[in-house]
Amino acid sequence: MAELGNPKNTIEILNKYNFVFRKKYGQNFLIDTHVLDKIIQAAEITKEDFVLEIGPGIGTLTQYLCENAREVVAVEIDKMLLPILADTLSPYENVTVINQDILKLDLKALIQERNNGRPIKVVANLPYYITTPIVMDLLEKQLPLVSITVMVQREVADRMQSGPGTKDYGALSLAVQYYTKPYIAANVPPNCFMPRPNVGSAVIRLTLHEKSVVAVEDEKLLFRMIRASFNQRRKTLVNGLNNSIEVSFDKEAVQKALEVLGLPDNIRGEALTLGQFAALSNELLNSTTCN
Ligand code: SAM
Repeated sequence: MAELGNPKNTIEILNKYNFVFRKKYGQNFLIDTHVLDKIIQAAEITKEDFVLEIGPGIGTLTQYLCENAREVVAVEIDKMLLPILADTLSPYENVTVINQDILKLDLKALIQERNNGRPIKVVANLPYYITTPIVMDLLEKQLPLVSITVMVQREVADRMQSGPGTKDYGALSLAVQYYTKPYIAANVPPNCFMPRPNVGSAVIRLTLHEKSVVAVEDEKLLFRMIRASFNQRRKTLVNGLNNSIEVSFDKEAVQKALEVLGLPDNIRGEALTLGQFAALSNELLNSTTCN
């Protein structure tokens, strides 16, 4: 089977099956072998690894994963791609294709059945229309994962990686950094895909923390406070946490908690680190339940 990372072979297989790209599924297939190598390197795939691939497309990245990993499970929503995958992956015995929407699959059960519940690696060139739901779903389900190495829009990679005081910093940065350590491994221009997306892309590796990096007494409260702060980005925390659908603390309670943490009472959420958000949520939890 010819390597699909080469554009000529990709076109040949698309023509053979009269494949029509479906925009609604975010289908932009990789046609650059350097980028494919870079993804495998960034994910540090070895023959020990069980890999979950989301959206194999015609199997381009899947072929690389099959060559480098012990076992691969590839989950593809578009049933028109199944005959193509059966063809392009026919040389490999270490791959299973599942025709399913990744957001509907019971991944915990899959990891339990296929890898005895041991941690797996996730690798994907993600469909951009659902990047954030997929990444958040993987993280919030607290699955046994070593890392998530994914191609995303450059702008989303920046948001995942940025810190306080930058324009890209927000709820996504804090959620991703709560669970993982992000690292942008490569920037990828539109001409590495077929068809070309109209945005730049990046490969980002999110390495799961082995243990929590912040001490949080009520995780749900922390994330409600983070959403409240960034939904009303221009408001001070005292106003944002007082008047939102997520939380409604007394202004005095927020002022007091900020004072305990040594923070000014006109501070905005965008200036707080993850550690400071965690400390503020613990302080508010304890001061308001004690009162
Ligand atoms: N991995 C291939 C590559 O790199 O050339 C294709 C990547 S393409 C950006 C995204 C793939 O995800 C498409 O094959 C698309 O059909 C699939 N996809 C879209 N939504 C999905 C979903 N909810 N669940 C599983 N696969 C999905």
